[in-house]
Amino acid sequence: MADDFNAEQKRYLEGFASGIAAARMTGGLALGHAPAGAPSEPTGPDAIHIKAQDRTVKNGGKLCDQEKWKRAENPFDGHNRLIAEATAGKAPKPEDNFRWRYHGLFWVAPTQTSYMCRLRIPNGILQHWQFAGIADLADKHGGPYSHVTTRANLQVREIAPEHGQAFLDGLVDLGLTARGSGADNIRNVTGSPTAGIDAQELLDTRPLAKSWHNWILNDRSLYGLPRKFNVAFDGGGVMPVLEETNDIGFQAVEVLEGAAIPAGIWMRLVLGGISGHKDLARDTGIVLKPEECNQVADAILRVFIENGDRTNRNKARMKYVLDAWGFDKYLAAVEEKLGRKLERVAPEHVAPRKPTDRFSHVGVHKQVQDGLNWIGVVLPVGKMTTDEMRELAKISAECGDGQIRLTVWQNFIFSGVPDAKVAEVEARVEALGLTTKAAGIRSGLVACTGARGCKFAASDTKGHAMVIADHVERAVPSLDVPVNVHLTGCHHSCAQHYIGDIGLIGAKVVVSEEGDTVEGYDIVVGGGFAENPKIGTEIWKAVKAEDAPTRVEALLNAYLARRLGPEESFQ
Ligand code: SF4
Repeated sequence: MADDFNAEQKRYLEGFASGIAAARMTGGLALGHAPAGAPSEPTGPDAIHIKAQDRTVKNGGKLCDQEKWKRAENPFDGHNRLIAEATAGKAPKPEDNFRWRYHGLFWVAPTQTSYMCRLRIPNGILQHWQFAGIADLADKHGGPYSHVTTRANLQVREIAPEHGQAFLDGLVDLGLTARGSGADNIRNVTGSPTAGIDAQELLDTRPLAKSWHNWILNDRSLYGLPRKFNVAFDGGGVMPVLEETNDIGFQAVEVLEGAAIPAGIWMRLVLGGISGHKDLARDTGIVLKPEECNQVADAILRVFIENGDRTNRNKARMKYVLDAWGFDKYLAAVEEKLGRKLERVAPEHVAPRKPTDRFSHVGVHKQVQDGLNWIGVVLPVGKMTTDEMRELAKISAECGDGQIRLTVWQNFIFSGVPDAKVAEVEARVEALGLTTKAAGIRSGLVACTGARGCKFAASDTKGHAMVIADHVERAVPSLDVPVNVHLTGCHHSCAQHYIGDIGLIGAKVVVSEEGDTVEGYDIVVGGGFAENPKIGTEIWKAVKAEDAPTRVEALLNAYLARRLGPEESFQ
């Protein structure tokens, strides 16, 4: 070693060299992590995670595999290696499948031996040329279709390994990204789909959703959390955004005269939603100025990063820190990070939220702007072919304001459609074999990917959802109110079955003494959201999929027979 270094510097450099050697042997080096013998603490954007991992180990915890993978090679540092292997047509090892998800690609074998790409679309809003461009990219690199997800997002499937990077590059050309859309990262940022066009809204969520989207994308320390994380902004309009199912929900509320803070529009902070674990976000009593949301969400995240469980994936969501600590301790830690107290307001000083409309994502609705309308289109369990997408983009450009707004109900709305163009939009949508007409069950039918594309699924959720809808339309023609039916393939609960009027979660049903199984469901009822948030109650276990349609029919008939009138909802 050259003599230009003092003794301490030499010790550090020797340690650094041995650290590199060790990293090469184990397949990677975590950036910012000082190697053995180094005098300093970890530094840089990964340090907050490395320190949390070190504390876990020091306290006797055994890091789960995903934490070890993150430590061995940060997925962003491994990008070029991942590309080289994928370009050679190689299927990724489990740890690289995890790393690819930081870039938005998911290897979905054995159901499909290809990648799925999940995009990021803040507030769910796309320009028509982006929507058509995604269709073109899907045709070139994947399957000729796309799915709208329950986070107002798009997924494209059947992307061969050697096409992965080209697909991601194509997204960038369209002004889009898929970065951080999977693994232990903050997922697509949702906001009210009718932002800026809704007469009832208190606040336009678009700038907030976009600002938070940019905040998290550009800070490497906010990737690689203990587990995935969801944030949503509700503007108080007629269309629910399901912020109560998010880890952080910001709800626009009107603070009334007489409170200790100025009257006006504030963002109420709700925390800890994770419907698959039977919990909805709860009011913290804190209200923020809209411009404070990013900074406060950032502090909430850093408390989670430092204290979330890194040993057990089933207990790693923020809810479990909140459960262990209570809200007061968690919020005190957030305030300590911020260096200031947050404003609180008593519930009696907040005006009740104006009601949502369960049909607002389907059909024709007047905008706040005179003479303009939004029109919601029903998509069968969120699926569109690429030909449909291009034609829908054309309709948006020629008859609306050029935007396609995706919703958490696995559909989309056209916005800015003049009165004189409404009939043309409806006719062109019908000509595609789609519909804008609200129906009792089809408008609220939500299904996760299921067994056709997800290895975790116990059942073919999308296929069974369509069978249930067909059956109910024939068997219960008198159904005159919206009823939400959510089918989810496993406990990950991507379709949020616990908040559906009727929820089905995939289950293998044993049908013989030898242990043979068939696809089926456990069934819950009575879930709710928005002004009636509620986790549903399980009423049947292990119902065969072939029997699910008649069970749903029986539930709907019982409701119709016993309700006082159509104003009494299923819930
Ligand atoms: Fe896959 Fe389970 Fe999510 Fe359905 S709920 S998409 S089966 S992980």
